[in-house]
Amino acid sequence: MPVKLIDSHCHIDSEQFAEDREAVIERALAAGVEHMVAIGSGDGPPDLEAGIRLADRYPFIYATVGVHPHDASKANAETYRRLRELAAHPKVIAVGEIGLDYHYDHSPREVQRDVFIEQMRIARDARRPIVIHTRTAWADTIALLREHWTPTGLGGILHCFSEGPREAEEALAIGFHISFAGIVTFPKAAAIQEAARITPAERLLIETDAPYLAPVPKRGKRNEPAYVVETARKLAELRGVTLEEIARTTSDNWRRLCFSKCV
Ligand SMILES: [Zn+2]
Ligand SMILES: [Zn+2]
Repeated sequence: MPVKLIDSHCHIDSEQFAEDREAVIERALAAGVEHMVAIGSGDGPPDLEAGIRLADRYPFIYATVGVHPHDASKANAETYRRLRELAAHPKVIAVGEIGLDYHYDHSPREVQRDVFIEQMRIARDARRPIVIHTRTAWADTIALLREHWTPTGLGGILHCFSEGPREAEEALAIGFHISFAGIVTFPKAAAIQEAARITPAERLLIETDAPYLAPVPKRGKRNEPAYVVETARKLAELRGVTLEEIARTTSDNWRRLCFSKCV
């Protein structure tokens, strides 16, 4: 019997799964993945339902809604109106992924910040946690979270955590969960691995971010939710606990974060 795991962040809507999505989902279930969170960013506005379409179809899939920082310049008043509606969907468990990406700068930074702030307001009003994407933008991300999110008390997830222990401490101090993805298994990821060691068990989550960045030993291949077990194995090794314990704590954390505050 495989251990039961939750993939807290994957892009099952991706074009990369167009040919075999059904088989990918079947393999995840066979590998013990009980629930998958289909991130709803898709290709950006006007389509905001990339995750919901999957959640409506499969009972074990949940969804998020949100405009990725890459697509921030596509957001307008109609986007926000629709996001407010969709955030109340019974299977939408969080708003995301939202945040800042200064690595690619696909949208101007100022626009990214405005869209991030507006979506924090939507999540606050919908009483949903947020899923944060941040890349080469740590200081601005944490400053905006402190100002606009911490007062809500709703918490959230730093997804695909790719910083070190100092940044992990900052995120933990403002109530965030930290979600580790395939990159924590990479041999050169010493800082991320140290962050994975110091994160308290009750704040730990796992994800694939499929189809991106598959964990060792699948590195270089298209990633898929079934591979979340490889990241769980690495976390168990780094923390000196069993795979079963990682599976149990990360699943309990996900349920507590995503289902206890929603109305
Ligand atoms: Zn991301
Ligand atoms: Zn993602």
